[in-house]
Amino acid sequence: CGIIACIGADDAAGDLLTGLENLEYRGYDSAGVAVQNGSGIAVRKRAGQISELDAAVASDTPAGRVGIGHTRWSTHGPPTDENAHPHTSQSGRVAVVHNGIIENYEALRARLREEGYTFRSDTDTEVVPHLVEHYMEEGLDVETAFERTLDDLEGSYAIALLVDGEDVVYAARQDSPLVLGLVDEGTDRQRYYLASDVPAFLEFTDQVVYLEDGDVVTVDGDGYRLTNRHEDGPVTRTPETVEWS
Ligand code: GLU
Repeated sequence: CGIIACIGADDAAGDLLTGLENLEYRGYDSAGVAVQNGSGIAVRKRAGQISELDAAVASDTPAGRVGIGHTRWSTHGPPTDENAHPHTSQSGRVAVVHNGIIENYEALRARLREEGYTFRSDTDTEVVPHLVEHYMEEGLDVETAFERTLDDLEGSYAIALLVDGEDVVYAARQDSPLVLGLVDEGTDRQRYYLASDVPAFLEFTDQVVYLEDGDVVTVDGDGYRLTNRHEDGPVTRTPETVEWS
């Protein structure tokens, strides 16, 4: 199973599919992508091989520079199109991919159902987009809504999140791997990748920041901001050049 995200790519959908193919070695039963281009978040997802997802994307390709992708290894709910990631919030404004297990998802589902949220999948993951949207509707900005959501979660996760209308990816990890890849375009706009493992984006860049448990990162075309849930203030982690044979 694996996560890939790209920020500032010319063709997000194409880079995401490349990343997912590079992550196939980790095993999976379903795959999906979401791309944001300011006129809604487009989601394509399929149970089965990445070739099925390829066909779905090829027949109706979402344009955009920012997106998230996922290969799923089911833990909660069978491998179906509905249970494949990304999962979206009620309004479709928030899309999420997740590796790991949200241990307290049943309690969170019950809480959200009382608030009027309905669930379209059997996954533990689907509570995440609903919680983020819920906190945004309370008036919190996306970063704070995401932090508040992470406070609610027990279990393991690497999460990448998109919000409609923003060329930004929000991500966090706890007991699941996540790395940030940096591409120096030599311009004032930057290109970034997030992934479960370096091989996902190695053909695009070998400049890597290894994220640690508790890290929360906000990435846009201008740069990235890193904090850690167990420390106050911004966190600095030095990019490394990976040697991969
Ligand atoms: N627990 C989630 C699910 O069953 C994520 C599984 C994974 O890590 O791929 O959908």
